[in-house]
Amino acid sequence: MQKIKIGSHVKMAGKEMFLGSVKEAESYGANVLMLYTGAPQNTVRKEIGALNIEAGWAYAKEAGIEEIVVHAPYIINLGNTVKPETFELAVSFLEKEIKRTAAMRSRILVLHPGAHVGAGEEAGILQIIKGLNLVLDKNEDDVFIALETMAGKGSELGATFEEIKAIYEGVHKKDRLRVCFDTCHVNDAGYHLADDYEGVLQRFDEVIGLSQIAAIHVNDSMNSCGARKDRHANIGKGCIGFDVLRRIVHDSRFAQIPKILETPWICEEGSDKKTLPPYREEIAALLKE
Ligand code: ZN
Ligand code: FE
Ligand code: FE
Repeated sequence: MQKIKIGSHVKMAGKEMFLGSVKEAESYGANVLMLYTGAPQNTVRKEIGALNIEAGWAYAKEAGIEEIVVHAPYIINLGNTVKPETFELAVSFLEKEIKRTAAMRSRILVLHPGAHVGAGEEAGILQIIKGLNLVLDKNEDDVFIALETMAGKGSELGATFEEIKAIYEGVHKKDRLRVCFDTCHVNDAGYHLADDYEGVLQRFDEVIGLSQIAAIHVNDSMNSCGARKDRHANIGKGCIGFDVLRRIVHDSRFAQIPKILETPWICEEGSDKKTLPPYREEIAALLKE
């Protein structure tokens, strides 16, 4: 039987940069990892030469980590028609982020599609399409942009499978697009994963196609189906539940797909500070036969 590809998001910071990310993933018993190329909430980035890519990959090969996923920072917004600077920053950042992703030898760049910030869904989606075309029309890197399924909080776009499909339809280079399926977000967007796992996947298959899923974010949700909140819960501690999350991890249709945990860190006994990563235990629990 082939190994399930599972890991978590990890930090990339300090002197070791990517080498540190790989060591962190190894400590969780992971064989894949996801990272932001800097802080997730800003666009400040080090030069590619300072990411310590070679040393990281040398260590990764020894540690049995063969695949990594990059996540674009969540503040960039290709859907913004209200502030041209925000859109332009998103486009120019994305151009460079694809280069960094390729340099890090990842084929998957996860992107939150964007938010319409009051201009309406249609305007937002058209703007996202425009941005993706500006970036992809002149890019030839071997990197997919994986549009993440979103919870729908605020004016977030991509909360329905149809919205993601609409983005595909407008993008010239459709073969450069994929989807990152986030279980917490899909639940929060109103798809009943807990009660109807097969039905939700069937719906996804009809609208977009299961073959388009290139990464899965395995998160429980603090909120009930349709809450549009996006608060991740630890595995088995939320409204989706352990059984469904374990099921998606073991689903043979996704055998080739990296599964990434983005569950919250937990507090030590008697403390209210989240200092302990849950990933080693959560990965082990999900892998149990
Ligand atoms: Zn995300
Ligand atoms: Fe996610
Ligand atoms: Fe989220």
